[in-house]
Amino acid sequence: MGDRDQGSFLDLAELDDEARMLRKEAHRVAVEVLRPAAWELDRMAPAERIAPGSPFFTAMDTLKSLGYHRMFLPPEAGGPAERLPALTQSVVLEELGWGSLGLATAFLVDMLPVMCISNFGSQELKDDLMVPWVADESGAYHGCWAVTEPDHGSDFIAVRDDDPARYGPAQLVAEPADGGWILRGQKSAWVSSGPIATHAAVHAQAGRDGDLFHSLFAVVELDVPGVRRGPPADMMGVRDDPQGELFFDAVFVPDRNVLVPPGPLYPVFADQLLCLTSSVISTVAVGVARAAFDEALHHARTRIQGGGLLSRHKNIQLTLYSMFERVETARAYSRAALAHTQANAPGARPEATGASPRHARTAQVYAKRAAYDVAHDALQVVGAQGLSRGALIEKLFRDARSLLIEDGTLEVLALDAARDVIDNYELDTYDLEEMMARW
Ligand SMILES: Cc1cc2nc3c(=O)[nH]c(=O)nc-3n(C[C@H](O)[C@H](O)[C@H](O)COP(=O)(O)OP(=O)(O)OC[C@H]3O[C@@H](n4cnc5c(N)ncnc54)[C@H](O)[C@@H]3O)c2cc1C
Repeated sequence: MGDRDQGSFLDLAELDDEARMLRKEAHRVAVEVLRPAAWELDRMAPAERIAPGSPFFTAMDTLKSLGYHRMFLPPEAGGPAERLPALTQSVVLEELGWGSLGLATAFLVDMLPVMCISNFGSQELKDDLMVPWVADESGAYHGCWAVTEPDHGSDFIAVRDDDPARYGPAQLVAEPADGGWILRGQKSAWVSSGPIATHAAVHAQAGRDGDLFHSLFAVVELDVPGVRRGPPADMMGVRDDPQGELFFDAVFVPDRNVLVPPGPLYPVFADQLLCLTSSVISTVAVGVARAAFDEALHHARTRIQGGGLLSRHKNIQLTLYSMFERVETARAYSRAALAHTQANAPGARPEATGASPRHARTAQVYAKRAAYDVAHDALQVVGAQGLSRGALIEKLFRDARSLLIEDGTLEVLALDAARDVIDNYELDTYDLEEMMARW
């Protein structure tokens, strides 16, 4: 497979040799590992997908054996000696998303607990958990991110800690105990990789009885007494990453596993974590959009109707142009958002004041919408063949549709961005009359 450029002007201008090499390698992995595994998983029953020997584990183990889980970490957490530039990270993530949205999601939620331990964990937790996790190349560790609850989906983004009256009773509560916390309750049926994860990064509301609006964030081992899992969900899209409930029946979590305790740091942490996840998901969504565009372009270049190739018809040309435009603009904005988020995250550099929620959320909303719109248009270009279960665009369309809900619905993400714009956007105000007087 050649090092074909993806037709992006920005790539031609900006990618260095390392980024091009990593993109080429990630594209190979996407073609040879992620796509075939995802294709098989999409057709399997939920229980089969998580059985030993499933293509899910083959794909995850391959990513681990190739060291992809280390690629995005800072050097102090076991990543490359020099941290991979954000642009290069975007390039690789786009390829993984191009290969499979579900497996890319599984890969990202696996890394999330490690990232958080590297930022907030004690040295003891780093030595005991992060170091072996990062060193592992056989799939012995797998993370998930347990946020939503049956009665709290959008609430984590839409309400968070700012209006307890609207949030209602939490369904996972952490009660203080000697040397740690006791978790009681459950997370929703949509926790990605929940059915197979060894560890979960868990958000829980801390306290007892009425006083429940001080959340904590902890890494919880999932093979300890009291943890139960629901059956893997049977979803319309993203079927290549198993989702499922996690139940916690009086599960003891030692203090050392609590990365962010209840207190004023938690809301800041949650906000910044959402900036990171938003900008990362947006780059993966660009991969989904590009995958759909590729399908449509290939079809238009080969299918003959009306006496010529589809690509000769003006309506198809305009549709392809509009798809291309959306992929390119989504890519450019997502890359900018990831770079901005990483450069401004607290601690990234001395003067960093925090990543920008409105920009990260905008990247996510824009790229997810682009992925869905492009997949929708691609299906129209491919026609009836695209509706068949044997067509890749049929799967991409279902995955792109799921993206509008996964990791925050479009509306709720947009409302969250709007809140930040209205409160924090710095207007350049000037006095028109005074300016005209001086004119
Ligand atoms: C493929 C997939 C993977 C997922 N992975 C994970 C995971 O790894 N971990 C995890 O914890 N969860 C995960 N989820 C859950 C996901 O985060 C939620 O589905 C999402 O946040 C929306 O919540 P909900 O589905 O309960 O919808 P609801 O919150 O019930 O929303 C329903 C509708 O109401 C609207 N709405 C809701 N609240 C408001 C509001 N305040 N203002 C205006 N409109 C509102 C929404 O936009 C939506 O249209 C996943 C979901 C999917 C589909």
